[in-house]
Order: sequence, then structure tokens, then C-alpha cells
Amino acid sequence: MTRIGVIGDIHGNLPALRGVLRHAGDCEGWYCTGDIVGYGPYPVECCRELRKLGAISVAGNHDLGSLGRADLDDFNPEARAACEWTGRLLDPDTRSFLESLELRHQAEPDIHIVHGSPRDPVWEYLTSAGAALKNFSSFDERVCFVGHTHVPMVFILGPQRRVSLLIPGESGELEIENGNRYIINAGSVGQPRDHDARSCYVQYEPEKGLLSYHRVDYPISEVQQAMHEAGLPLFLAHRLVLGI
Ligand code: ZN
Repeated sequence: MTRIGVIGDIHGNLPALRGVLRHAGDCEGWYCTGDIVGYGPYPVECCRELRKLGAISVAGNHDLGSLGRADLDDFNPEARAACEWTGRLLDPDTRSFLESLELRHQAEPDIHIVHGSPRDPVWEYLTSAGAALKNFSSFDERVCFVGHTHVPMVFILGPQRRVSLLIPGESGELEIENGNRYIINAGSVGQPRDHDARSCYVQYEPEKGLLSYHRVDYPISEVQQAMHEAGLPLFLAHRLVLGI
């Protein structure tokens, strides 16, 4: 495959998802690190869009929470309210799509996909080089894509078994080098938390060994309006402009 789009933490934010798809153009494959639903007002539409795209996705904690397959006591009150709201909205078709998602997926070429971390695919927030080092033994592929923290981040395991952490900047490009292994957080399409409100996603060109981060504007106020109309918690709408 020449160019793969990697997205995640869409969280029912359809305008953000559409913005990213428009920006990326034709990719030969699409991988999604989960949390397609939860928080945002368009869960059904986002699932439909991913199916249309033929994206391969894993399940995130909010997908499972909305299905009633994760304990809602493990969510904060706003997240829990949004999961309950989403769960009531899911039609049988969308529900069975979400139910079909695996917790981890091994994909071509030499790619592993999870939501949280390789050793704890649903819940671990992978934020440190120390935790990443322990996770490299939980998958075999060269590259693992993760989400969950909503913060773009790359962990690189070098030949000396040392992990370095890289925070990608604006449209950051990174060479995927032979001999290294990588855990790559693709950031969040629908609710970025790195103080940049724009959608974040990754393009990966395996034959060139090239990874690039991209940020895309979308009409935030339109989504906030839909959230108000749906009666979703105010804080969830407010945080979108702050990128938190
Ligand atoms: Zn998420």
C-alpha cells in the first residue's frame, strides 16, 4: 500500500471526520484506533462513514461503553452521560457494526492497531517512555498505532532497547527507520486534547518509510450547536474550542 490514513477518537464528530477525509483524499487503506462514538452528536453517521470508507477499526472504551459492554462506573460523569445518550441512539445496524469490532487488529504491512495500549487495548493511557518500553513486548509488528489519550505522540524503540518520545509538531514528518520499532498515537479527529482544536490524523507511506501528521480545521460551532440541541453536557461542547 502506498498511502494509509490513520484516524481515531472521532467521538461522533461528523464535521471533523469529513474534514479529515477531504484533506486526505484517496488513501489505499484506512485504519481507525477506536472511539468512533461517545461525546459527539453524530455517532450513527460516523459509523456509516467509516463503513463506507471500508476502514478497519478496533473498539475503544467509549464504543464499548455505549454498547453497555464496559462498566460505566469507569467513566467520568460527562463521558458516562454521553455514552448513555449514544447507546439510546444506536440503531440495530450501527450497534452490530460496533459489536463486530475487535480489541486488536494485525494489519498489512507489519502494523498492529489497538485503542489504548498493546498490553491493555481498552484502558491504558500510554504517555511515558517507561510504559511504552513495557508495551513493545506485547506486539510483534514494527509499527503499532494507538489512540485513547487524544494527544499525538511517537515512541521509538531503538536497537539498544531504549525508548525515545517524540511530540510531533505542525505537519510533523517522521522517517520510519529499519531496525527501530514504533508506537504511534495518531491524535484525535473529533476531540483533540493537545491545546490545538483542529482535527489530527496521520498518513503513513510504508514503502517510503514516511509518517506525517496533519491538522485540519472544521466548523466547531456547528458541532457545539448540535450538542446543545441533543442535550449533551455543556463542558463537552466547550472543550472542543479549547482543544482539551
Ligand atoms: Zn477517546
